[in-house]
Amino acid sequence: MQDHPQSALSADRRRRELVDLGDSADVDVLVIGGGITGVGTALDAASRGLRTVLVDKHDLAFGTSRWSSKLAHGGLRYLASGNVGIARESAVERGILMTRTAPHLVRALPQLVPLLPSVGRFANALVRTGFLAGDALRVTARTPASVLPRSRRVDAEKAARLAPAVRREGLRGGLLAYDGQLIDDARLVVALARTAAAHSATILTRVGAYDVTGDSARLRDELTGEELTIRARAVVNAAGVWAGQVDPDIRLKPSRGTHLVLPAELLGNPTAALTVPIPGETNRFVFALPAQLGRVYLGLTDEAVDGAIPDVPVASDGEVDFLLDTVNTALATPLSRSDVLGTFAGLRPLLDSGEGKTSDLSRNHAVLRSSNGVVSVVGGKLTTYRKMAQDAVDAAIAAGELTARACVTTNLPAVGADRTAPRSLPPSLVARYGSEAGIVADAGDLTPIADGIDVTHAELAFAVSHEGALDVDDLLDRRTRIGLVPGDRERALPAAERALNGS
Ligand SMILES: Cc1cc2nc3c(=O)[nH]c(=O)nc-3n(C[C@H](O)[C@H](O)[C@H](O)COP(=O)(O)OP(=O)(O)OC[C@H]3O[C@@H](n4cnc5c(N)ncnc54)[C@H](O)[C@@H]3O)c2cc1C
Repeated sequence: MQDHPQSALSADRRRRELVDLGDSADVDVLVIGGGITGVGTALDAASRGLRTVLVDKHDLAFGTSRWSSKLAHGGLRYLASGNVGIARESAVERGILMTRTAPHLVRALPQLVPLLPSVGRFANALVRTGFLAGDALRVTARTPASVLPRSRRVDAEKAARLAPAVRREGLRGGLLAYDGQLIDDARLVVALARTAAAHSATILTRVGAYDVTGDSARLRDELTGEELTIRARAVVNAAGVWAGQVDPDIRLKPSRGTHLVLPAELLGNPTAALTVPIPGETNRFVFALPAQLGRVYLGLTDEAVDGAIPDVPVASDGEVDFLLDTVNTALATPLSRSDVLGTFAGLRPLLDSGEGKTSDLSRNHAVLRSSNGVVSVVGGKLTTYRKMAQDAVDAAIAAGELTARACVTTNLPAVGADRTAPRSLPPSLVARYGSEAGIVADAGDLTPIADGIDVTHAELAFAVSHEGALDVDDLLDRRTRIGLVPGDRERALPAAERALNGS
């Protein structure tokens, strides 16, 4: 694949574009927030021919978008709660991601519910019915079985092969279904931001938006403290759980979701997500998800959160115990706290609809126009970012009385998604960069940056030259996910520092 310099984000480009903006700060659409919603919105707007600027106070994927379970959901859980519309929307958007937008970053993940004595006949029938409904959703969304195989029952031997740590005693087999799994959520955010940049959007990290109105904002370069006022025909607030700070008309009821990071080896290097029913609840499960870098993510919780929104949420002891206790009901050898390599927690930007448990609040998204004209896009989920973005840009076009082309994002591949076969390269590189793997390989040395961490020096160099990484946190916590394990982060630090110095 050829390198497309237009999609490359770097410190130099950021500096240049900030100077240009100081000279002429008049744009069609200003997008506030560089999570999945904001980058999707910037891509939608730019690809319709609108002059678009996106700002993030911190970094791309700094907020909730890097703390997800990294699944492209088919919407089954919404079907179970009677939300047919949102379930269908999820299934359609999952299909678009897996076949057109980012097939290189999303794979089919087998999810296994082990049939242990704790799963009685009724629960078995319920899960099986749910999986069949999931198959039907996939078919109505026109996602072929070659992309996501249909669900089925497997025998005990196969179940144990897929999830070797599962308890064998009383194991009758397993129910297997498939969903989409991202290699990493932050990686999708960065790929979409670069695709937006290739369509002439200006993408600026470490730039906060303040005093936001429907046609202007004060932008501050958080690195230098310099400020400028930008005028925009429409302003889209995609600030996630911080949306209420940008537009006080927005009321959210955040809920925290926590995952633990475990060594995959300890769970026998599973190839399926072990899906364990939460005792005493119907239709809620804990998942042990096989992940990159030899890890398993164990999630997830749902805890209402009050008070100030932290920059980086922290898991509680109670959540750690709950996750371990639940997964242990299905394991041959129980896990303990000393097995946990790291934890990560994120806040769901749920709309406040009054009363109710946060787990019951709708995951639907909303596009709201506030009294001062700001268009806010809130709620939703990673899987449906494209539709959220389309709705937000439609609202921005109406708000700013803009003239624009129709939305094209259902057929717009992200960088790395084209079908060019990369030359023979390490599979981990192809899984993370798709058809851009060759360009990454040319960016530097293909040796791992530290023992047991399969991230290469070339990847860090590429993150600096093409993915807008400005410091070691960007490199270790977002462009790569080494930082999810504090011990690995420490060992990777010298390589990250060298990559930033260009040595
Ligand atoms: C634990 C958990 C697991 C989840 N798992 C899944 C899953 O598997 N699949 C799925 O589809 N969905 C999942 N979701 C939902 C999904 O992750 C979120 O809906 C989505 O990431 C929200 O993205 P966002 O862009 O709206 O917000 P964010 O990612 O939080 O982005 C907001 C951005 O705005 C920036 N910002 C804030 N204020 C300002 C300002 N004043 N100026 C400039 N920038 C500003 C922040 O720095 C931040 O980067 C999960 C959510 C949680 C919490």
